Amino acid sequence: MPTDIEIARQATLMPIAEVAGHAGVPEAALIPYGRYKAKIDVGLLPTKPRGKLILVTAISPTPAGEDKTTTSVGLSDALHRIGRKTLLCLREPSLGPCFGVKGGGAGGGRSQVMPMDEINLHFTGDFHAITSAHNLLSAMLDNHIYWGNTLEIDLRRVTWRRVLDMNDRALRQIVGPLGGVSNGFPRESGFDITVASEIMAILCLAADLADLQQRLGDIIVGYRRDRTPVFCRDIKADRAMTVLLKDAILPNLVQTLENNPALLHGGPFANIAHGCNSLIATRTALALADYVVTEAGFGADLGAEKFMDIKCRMGGLAPAAVVLVATVRALKMHGGVAKKDLSAANPDAVRAGAVNLRRHIENVQKFGLTPTIAINHFDTDTDEELAVIQEMAGQFGADAVICRHWAEGSAGAEELARIVAQKADADAPDFRLLYPDDMKLAAKIETVATEIYRAGSVAITEPVRRQLQQWEEMGYGQFPVCMAKTQYSFSTDPGATGAPVGHEIAVREVRLSAGAGFVVAICGEIMTMPGLPRVPSAESIHLDENGQIEGLF
Ligand code: ADP
Ligand code: MG
Repeated sequence: MPTDIEIARQATLMPIAEVAGHAGVPEAALIPYGRYKAKIDVGLLPTKPRGKLILVTAISPTPAGEDKTTTSVGLSDALHRIGRKTLLCLREPSLGPCFGVKGGGAGGGRSQVMPMDEINLHFTGDFHAITSAHNLLSAMLDNHIYWGNTLEIDLRRVTWRRVLDMNDRALRQIVGPLGGVSNGFPRESGFDITVASEIMAILCLAADLADLQQRLGDIIVGYRRDRTPVFCRDIKADRAMTVLLKDAILPNLVQTLENNPALLHGGPFANIAHGCNSLIATRTALALADYVVTEAGFGADLGAEKFMDIKCRMGGLAPAAVVLVATVRALKMHGGVAKKDLSAANPDAVRAGAVNLRRHIENVQKFGLTPTIAINHFDTDTDEELAVIQEMAGQFGADAVICRHWAEGSAGAEELARIVAQKADADAPDFRLLYPDDMKLAAKIETVATEIYRAGSVAITEPVRRQLQQWEEMGYGQFPVCMAKTQYSFSTDPGATGAPVGHEIAVREVRLSAGAGFVVAICGEIMTMPGLPRVPSAESIHLDENGQIEGLF
């Protein structure tokens, strides 16, 4: 099998106007960015939703890979193949992981979105715009302090940091400005990766430009000595930030290897934020197509839960079907097999690891939906191992379909597409959110921890409880909670694979994203600025003698 970029290079792409035509986007609404990318002026499109929303999520991630993006692309292409008008909605990749270890975010094998090199690099500049808008607020904030600090911001309680779209651990904690009177007042601060910016979360949850500006104004940048908040609006940055984001808020149209349309828009971190593409893109897709396939970050305990409880809640969306991606290899790891031994057949380990799959199926059922299991086929899988997954899924009334879209493109996911389309077409499922808006914030955290993570106890410290209560008094009690926890386990111990029970979930810290509209509950370590590995992929990314990019997977 050729590499992802070799396959990508051989693709025959359609001019973007033609792709738009197939997607039902009129020429007038198309803002081309070169030949194969375009932004869409959503103001010129229908708004009435007609499509069925299909969520692609996965079992708990392992280093063996689960491949949600690849499966989302394969499923969308396969729906087209069986004659269903479909739009794919994905996130835009961040530069950090691209140069680090994870690789690209455009799918893989014969299920990719194109042009994958541009998508993985600067694309249409949305992340640069978000970075600029974020740092404009940082600069204006420090400038306000420099010119006398009439808002009386407590320098020790500035919460707004700076961002960069790069994995750079050297910037996690900094002290500045240094260098004397003319540079300002030194204080501790730091950088986060752009996808962890609250502005990214806001862009992905905003209904339109006016709502975006409102939410930007609502951002809390720090506190006074009396603990009252200072807002972005007080710094008077919200309007200029909106100007910087006026194009970034428009969804990006691209195509798959099979020339089917895809909207790539936004990419919030799935830990400190909610990890889904933009609401604007999803709504646009629902108005244009009969089926909309979208992906949520990490495993279903984090990604699907936040998709439902944050994005669907705020956007008034209801998924019609859920696809849960599993692989033989990942289940073997959940069953205790080391990564180096994954190629050897081991149906017993698959059976042992399938407890993780079962737990995720049960969890999705709590939202009123039974997922369809997409078994992403790898060359090393044996028939016996595959049969174990189907048997285990069957015990929960879930279909498990073997999918070969990575190797074969849409032909390899046809059966999955038929089953999912049939489910989506059936009577609307009894979709429900996990908790109501008016539940207390601490109780919301406890609900997710016990219902989804199956914690035996939830430890919320007294200061954290007081903080939550204070936010309730300030009017933020209706917000959903955004859980920040390791993606590798249901517990807070990344090593506890499988389906742990009875563990304690300790909430160390809570953060208020007043503009995005959620409260982040931090359980365990949380990384908002990743580092690069010992040998980053950037070392092998280069231009060959013909000026073509090599090494982008
Ligand atoms: P996720 O969205 O879950 O992070 P991706 O879909 O981006 O994962 O896939 C990660 C990588 O795994 C991609 O480079 C892809 O080419 C590879 N991959 C996906 N499916 C298969 C498969 N069936 N066999 C081999 N490699 C695969
Ligand atoms: Mg992905």
